[in-house]
Formats: sequence, C-alpha cells, structure tokens
Amino acid sequence: MSLFVAKLIWGLGCIAYYIIRYPHQRRARKTAVTGNRDRTREKALMLISYSGLFVIPLIYVLTEQPKFASYTFRPVQAWLGLVVLIAAMALLYRTHRDLGRAWSITLEIRDRHRLITQGIYERLRHPMYAAFWLWAISQALLLPNWIAGLSGLVGFGTLFFGRVGHEERMMLETFGDEYRAYMARTYRLIPGIY
Ligand code: SAH
Repeated sequence: MSLFVAKLIWGLGCIAYYIIRYPHQRRARKTAVTGNRDRTREKALMLISYSGLFVIPLIYVLTEQPKFASYTFRPVQAWLGLVVLIAAMALLYRTHRDLGRAWSITLEIRDRHRLITQGIYERLRHPMYAAFWLWAISQALLLPNWIAGLSGLVGFGTLFFGRVGHEERMMLETFGDEYRAYMARTYRLIPGIY
C-alpha cells in the first residue's frame, strides 16, 4: 500500500460514515425532541470532535501540512488501519440500526423514547462511541503524521469524556431504575473491562 492509497482509504471512511448516518439524520429531523441537555457545551464538544476527526486530517490529506509532524509511512501500519476502519464502520452501522429512532447526534430525549437494551446494546451502553474510538484509531494508523493522525483521538476523546457522564445522568433521570439496572449489567465500551 502507498501513502496515497492510505489517504484515499481515510477519505472513503468519511464517505462511509456519511452514508451510514444519512438515513438516521433524516429520520431524526422528523422525530420530535422532548428534552435536551447542555446545548452550548454539546456544540463545543462536537466542533472539537469534528475538527479532530475531519478538518485537521483533511488539511493534511490535501496539503501534507503540518509537514514537520510527518514520519515515515509504513504499509503494515496502514493495512492495520484499514482493518480497524472496516471494524469501526461495521460497528457504526450496527449501532445505528439497533438504536433506531432513539438516536440523536447530541444529548436529546425524543417523543416516546424507549430504552434500548437489545442487540449490541445488550452488553454495552456506548457501542456507538466505541465505533468512533475505533475510527479515531484507524485514522492514527492510516495517516503518518503525529498531528493529523492523533487529532481524531484527542478530538473524539474530548467529546467522549466530556459527554458520557452527562449522558448517563440524563438517561438515569429519564428512565430511573430501568437504566440503573441496565448500568449494573453492562459495560461502557469494552465487554468485561470498561
Ligand atoms: N451513547 C450511545 C448512544 C449515542 S447517540 C452509544 O454510544 O451507543 C446519543 C443519544 O442516544 C442520547 O441522546 C440518548 O438519548 C440516546 N441513548 C443512549 N443510550 C440509549 C439507550 N440505551 N436506549 C435509548 N436511547 C439511548
């Protein structure tokens, strides 16, 4: 694999993300929201995540900048990046399907919101965020540049740690004991570990 192909794969990942998310975004626009949280903080977190996962790597892919942060391209590393990217997109697809109309891009409770505890949500509370972690890892493996490669991990990591506690609190306030029991039998991201 060449650096050009690795960059192309990174771009295809962004397109796959868009295609997976598009139908859910459309439906979400038509599903009434009954409550939302911390809009300003959520917007800031999303902007940080979007910059790290998309804007900074896009600048690198198109212009090679920031050049000083580039290091030698290794095909094995990029192949590994491709494998992780495929896993990320498969998980992203699955989580959108399982969450269905309960999905929101930010912290929102929708009209007739049901707690989802089936499918991939049976064991994990945040499998969609796990997919984003994998996506950020694939970016770090595909782009041999310390800044553009790691910006996704920093950007999404900021969103994740800035949001996950608030999200669980919102779910607890909305679903009470049902969510408490669900929390007791599930992990956040990695089965058996975290
Ligand atoms: N944190 C989850 C969902 C991300 S989408 C994941 O990583 O898979 C964020 C929205 O999903 C939140 O606004 C919340 O309303 C909703 N949500 C999160 N967990 C849910 C669950 N188990 N059932 C129903 N809705 C959920």
